[in-house]
Amino acid sequence: MNGYICEKCHDMGFVLVDKDGAEVAVRCECQAKRLSMLRLKRSGISEELQKKGFNDFDCRGMEVLKTAKNKAKGYYQNFLLSEGDRHNSIILCGQPGAGKTHLGMAICNNLLNVCGVEIAYMAYRNAMTAIKQTVTDKDGYYKAIGTYCNARLLYIDDLLKGRQTEADLNILYELVNYRYMHKKPMVISTEKTPEELVGVDEAIGSRIMEMCRRYTVVLQGKELNYRLYS
Ligand SMILES: [Zn+2]
Repeated sequence: MNGYICEKCHDMGFVLVDKDGAEVAVRCECQAKRLSMLRLKRSGISEELQKKGFNDFDCRGMEVLKTAKNKAKGYYQNFLLSEGDRHNSIILCGQPGAGKTHLGMAICNNLLNVCGVEIAYMAYRNAMTAIKQTVTDKDGYYKAIGTYCNARLLYIDDLLKGRQTEADLNILYELVNYRYMHKKPMVISTEKTPEELVGVDEAIGSRIMEMCRRYTVVLQGKELNYRLYS
């Protein structure tokens, strides 16, 4: 043990590689993880959720939950192969207490910790409030929305929670359309059903559902609420 967190770059954040006979500095792969951890800390997603994995997801003997877990796990396992595809995203729909945030975070935690995938975490309501506060300041606005547009993977927790104003929907459209056009994957949890999502805004909903065509999970039925039935 020499006390370095990263053995590769000895916590310098860059490594020297040979390029055409000259040594050049490139960003070390540990930096994607460091940045994601920082974003996670700032996102408002609880520490408890930051530790969730697939193994501690309790299916409570229910087929619908087993199927959901397998789908989420399958998404994680295929992520690197299908990252650049049109259908590279997953949506976990359903009522509160069904475990959709747990599964969404299990995907992100594994992709971050095992694969070093850079992730931006968007706690929807809080993030929208923060972005809206910047709309009169162009630079501030693009900085605020830019992280969510450009991150390699975007996790949106509780998409469309609360009442949506026209400003909310304009911002969300800009974000979703950007990621759709650039084929950048998203992991989404929401209390809306796919039909409701498209009903709130067709341009936004149809793009999301196309990206999530291969991985759409719907958890409905009050017996699924572990907060009531465990
Ligand atoms: Zn490093």
